Amino acid sequence: MMKNFIKKVVIVGGGTAGWIAAALLSKLMGNALTIELVESDAIGTIGVGEATIPPIRHLNEALGIDEADFMRETGATIKLAIKFEGWHRPGQDYFHAFGAVGQDFAFCPFHHFWLRAQQTNIHSELWDYNLNYQCIQANKFAPVSTKDPNLEVPYAYHFDASRYALYLRRYAEQRGVKRVEGMVEQVQRDTTSGDIAQLILKDGTVLAGDLFLDCSGLRGLLIHETLGTAFEDWSHWLPCDRAVAVPSEPLTAALAYTRSIAHPMGWQWRIPLQHRNGNGLVYSSRHCSDDEAAHQLLTQLDSTATDEPRLIRFTTGRRVENWRHNVVAIGLSSGFLEPLESTSIHLIQSAVVRLLKLFSRQRIEPATVAEYNRQSALELEQIRDFIILHYHANQRVNDPFWDELRHMKIPNSLAQKIHLFQQTGALFKTQDELFVESSWLQVLIGQGVVPQDYHPMADQVTEAQLRSLLNNMKKIKQAPLQQMLDYREFLARINNK
Ligand code: FAD
Repeated sequence: MMKNFIKKVVIVGGGTAGWIAAALLSKLMGNALTIELVESDAIGTIGVGEATIPPIRHLNEALGIDEADFMRETGATIKLAIKFEGWHRPGQDYFHAFGAVGQDFAFCPFHHFWLRAQQTNIHSELWDYNLNYQCIQANKFAPVSTKDPNLEVPYAYHFDASRYALYLRRYAEQRGVKRVEGMVEQVQRDTTSGDIAQLILKDGTVLAGDLFLDCSGLRGLLIHETLGTAFEDWSHWLPCDRAVAVPSEPLTAALAYTRSIAHPMGWQWRIPLQHRNGNGLVYSSRHCSDDEAAHQLLTQLDSTATDEPRLIRFTTGRRVENWRHNVVAIGLSSGFLEPLESTSIHLIQSAVVRLLKLFSRQRIEPATVAEYNRQSALELEQIRDFIILHYHANQRVNDPFWDELRHMKIPNSLAQKIHLFQQTGALFKTQDELFVESSWLQVLIGQGVVPQDYHPMADQVTEAQLRSLLNNMKKIKQAPLQQMLDYREFLARINNK
């Protein structure tokens, strides 16, 4: 019988990336692998990352984690949407809510009927037909069990990522993952293959392995500092390169969404957790000094700061190869877009799942590495385009930061998507794309990109039928609210379970 070639996996880094990788690998391949994780208390973790997107629930389900227990332990709240405040122009807000907008008819997406209605003086908000938005308006929530995707309430969490990492650490250690505390000081490579052979820690401990996961954060200790893998810089499209973050007292109002507030030189997040509010200002250092950013942040909090503001520097872009030799970069070491659509923790999850799917008992095949890198690049480029859309389609005229973004040359893939939508109202998600049509629709309309036309199939109904179709759709979307709890009551029940 063929023996497994990869018997020992060494994970460098104990941030969210390292512990998600350790938890999933130990759960799903624990019998076949020895797993060691090294992390340095002296270096610590990046310490931010509070908002997630719905697939996080698949991760927790795959791990068999109890939702109420997880929410209590990580101070989690429910996230149904992101509210973008002033992104299109100052004073105008819109939501990117998870879940379907309306319900598609045969081959004609719902929004074409809505577009026709707007041109026929039957005015309504696009978000009237989204259940998550209705939950937010009514301040209600309950997980809905349905097979109808139009009546689902897809939700994610806001949580304390450091507590989540600790939670997963306990989980992984119970499943045999060995944690080593210490600083990696030297990395030794096999002189023939160039693969990483072993790590030497400051205290002399030697960690040898067959496969190394570089979860060492932005520095990329193995993938970059050791193997020299190049970085593709995307800061000409995504120029924010700093963030200043500070926690503040928890809010009295319970909000089930992230707030993203446009500023003259970037944007501010406000994330309500159970035990605190998370706040940060993401900005471009060409347009704002660090002192000014910290001042802006501290003067625009909803509650009293509970710590000193912390500065984080980053460059948007990606590692050209996420897998090289026997090193797979996961988390910030593999690249970083920016936190606007809360995608980084998801990208960790999807990287580990991709690795698991491509795991083989044989030697590491070049074809495996190539496929891993192809999928990783495509995934990140698709998300990149979606994030650029938020910045580019703005009418914040006379703010130099926003003027530059409005006038910049965008990737062709994004330009084509916007053009098609503007001309015809047509929207297509590309293969395996994370953000589906309803996400693109809300951000396009919210950012003021309105199609000139709608699909002729939307003309197949009379004006009276169109009016009743829209009224009925709104009622259908509002009906599940009656079975739901007040959102505060939902949180209280979770804490008492
Ligand atoms: P880190 O947390 O930096 O961990 C690196 C680990 O490597 C640490 O344990 C460190 O000790 C260890 N290490 C490094 N060098 C050595 C060494 N020599 N020896 C031993 N150990 C070493 N993501 C989201 O999904 N949602 C968000 O809302 C969100 N907000 C963000 C806001 C900002 C401003 C930023 C910058 C990021 C945000 N992210 C967000 C991204 C998120 O924080 C990260 O993706 C996530 O925390 C994973 O980080 P990591 O584990 O890759 O790196």
